[in-house]
Amino acid sequence: MMTTRMQRLNPDGWPALALDIGGTWCRAAVVGEDGTLLARAKSRTFPERSGPEIVEDCRSLIAKVAAEVGIGITDVGVSVTGPVNPQSGVIYSPPNAQGGLAGLPLRTELSRRLDGAQVLVVKDTNAAALAEQQFGVARGVRDFVYLTISTGIGGAAVIQDRLILGVDGCAGEIGHVSVDPNGPVCGCGRRGCLESIASGPALARRYSAARGAGAIDNASASASASGNLEGVDVSRAANEGDAVALEILDSARAAIASAAVDIANLYNPALIVIGGSVARANPEWLTSAGDAVDRLALSPTRETTQVVASGLDDDAGLLGAALILQSGAAQTAHGTRIGGEN
Ligand SMILES: [Zn+2]
Repeated sequence: MMTTRMQRLNPDGWPALALDIGGTWCRAAVVGEDGTLLARAKSRTFPERSGPEIVEDCRSLIAKVAAEVGIGITDVGVSVTGPVNPQSGVIYSPPNAQGGLAGLPLRTELSRRLDGAQVLVVKDTNAAALAEQQFGVARGVRDFVYLTISTGIGGAAVIQDRLILGVDGCAGEIGHVSVDPNGPVCGCGRRGCLESIASGPALARRYSAARGAGAIDNASASASASGNLEGVDVSRAANEGDAVALEILDSARAAIASAAVDIANLYNPALIVIGGSVARANPEWLTSAGDAVDRLALSPTRETTQVVASGLDDDAGLLGAALILQSGAAQTAHGTRIGGEN
């Protein structure tokens, strides 16, 4: 079917144009109502890219996928790494993607570059939680907490069917719960945050510090092309029986398990959904978190709360970004639309 510009295939808002700006990749997609990605494109997100360059990357990716499916660019939902003002769409200062993203008025700038298209912006963890509730393992669940363990550690809580935003839209920063007051210094300045112990970069940093100059050799030839050790290399070294890697992973596993018990006690959720590349690389962390909740959370939460793996993984941000464009799909307790002014 041929369509003219600014015309939608479906007046209900589907298919939807979605962007996911992460620390490594910027992805765009056309998302169908059932969560199918009808077209997708991506480019590297370089931390040294300026704000205008990032906006141009976004514009170009959106134009590409919209043209592929043959829809006009009237509305774009954007999921972005780190904290963002959900009303103004101004990025605060994401810990994993500084550079041009920090302080970027993404909503207004992207809208301007897209000839006035409506742009709504949501924090990636909030987008992922919405996606899990609509398309993933939390389908139909009214009380759950989403936790991602990746380059950073973040979370989002949906309680009584409402996404918890907080005054500034910054609620859910589970990665900056301190689980060890004497632990490593976190990027936020505090000691012992979950993110400083169990994120991918934290695993690599702790392994390098313990191993010294031989760290990369010990992790075999698995270090990334840039020569920098990554979290996945520590997992690989552990699989080869490296005692230092095993110890670091075990302490991270224990920290995640302890945090899962805290989350269960705080929110009494039906589910704790855990996603992210580091969680995928260490499936025993999930089992351990589930066991810890079963044993250590208060009753009856310990009988209620289940720990489950995300079913969406890398597409969760895109799917959630598409959902914030749908009327009624993303209302807060105060009736404020996520990503919009009203
Ligand atoms: Zn922190």
